[in-house]
Amino acid sequence: MNRRIYDMVVIGGGPGGYTAALYAARAGLDTVVLEQLSAGGQMALTHQIDNYPGFEDGVDGFALAEKMQRQAERFGAHTEYAEVRKLDLAARPRVIETSEGVYYGKTVVLATGAGPRELGLPMEKELTGRGVAYCAACDGMRYRGKTVAVVGGGNSAASDALLLSRIAKKVILIHRRDTLRAEKACQKPLMEAENVEFLWNRVVTGLLHDGKLTGLRLTDRTTGEESTVEADGLFISIGRKPATDLVRGWLELDADGYVAAGETTETGLPGVYAVGDVRAKKLRQIITAAADGAVAAHMAEEYLLHGNQTGDSAYSFEKN
Ligand code: NAP
Repeated sequence: MNRRIYDMVVIGGGPGGYTAALYAARAGLDTVVLEQLSAGGQMALTHQIDNYPGFEDGVDGFALAEKMQRQAERFGAHTEYAEVRKLDLAARPRVIETSEGVYYGKTVVLATGAGPRELGLPMEKELTGRGVAYCAACDGMRYRGKTVAVVGGGNSAASDALLLSRIAKKVILIHRRDTLRAEKACQKPLMEAENVEFLWNRVVTGLLHDGKLTGLRLTDRTTGEESTVEADGLFISIGRKPATDLVRGWLELDADGYVAAGETTETGLPGVYAVGDVRAKKLRQIITAAADGAVAAHMAEEYLLHGNQTGDSAYSFEKN
């Protein structure tokens, strides 16, 4: 059977994935990016990005994602829209099973990113899209003139609450501590917004609904007192969780579930790299994801040329 064996299969078309593809394609590697929906990952959901250098007026995340995709494709990288379902990372070449068929790669770059963390409340899944949401930039407009709650105390919660304060009638920020951990620059405009109310030391313990969300049950962590609050929407902004289901059992994960790979992006498996938000690291930003992608392509190129210490090299793939 005449199967195409790519030099590099990139799983995930966010900034890490497309930068790996750009550098790999420019190095002459036959590269495919497997993307589930559309380029950009989490970045594509961000309306205005002000901390990616080179765009003095900021840039829309969706537009930046399209630029990254087109740039990689200009040098010959392909994009295939496919959901990756199963990996065999021990096989030579590596086997990537998808909704659209099987792909083979001499190297694999895992760039699957991270998704929103859930509260884990009863009915949370069922009410998602019916009042429960995880992305203010995507779903905020549905709540024009309504009352919404935001749960969380980090930068995401603060920026979501601020964005919603410009759309909704009232925003209730619920945090389990008595101060936000968000940067001061994010907190100030929020504190000044007239339609934002803060409920400190509270956790959401239940979702009230009539098919759609109508309110929340809260518990005060200091007194144990229970209360309810009416809300048409609940935005859960409590951080992210890495998308590692595919590699569980193949790659070592850290205590928080991120792929244990260092600055070189190398995982425990030769020829397999982890880039962007899915990798254990201090700072998860577009620029650090892009940097990972460049490093991974470089490491893959070296691996394909020279193999590694274990003698596991691309040459052996070609002989098999
Ligand atoms: P984060 O900084 O990890 O904050 C998560 C927040 O959710 C914390 O306040 C945490 O409370 C709370 N939380 C976690 N689990 C909870 C639970 N089960 N119930 C209630 N509350 C819970 O996450 P993030 O805000 O998503 O930010 C992630 C990264 O992206 C950060 O590095 C951040 O700086 C970056 N970011 C930057 C910007 C920007 O504009 N610069 C915007 C968004 C995100 P505790 O405080 O008690 O732990």
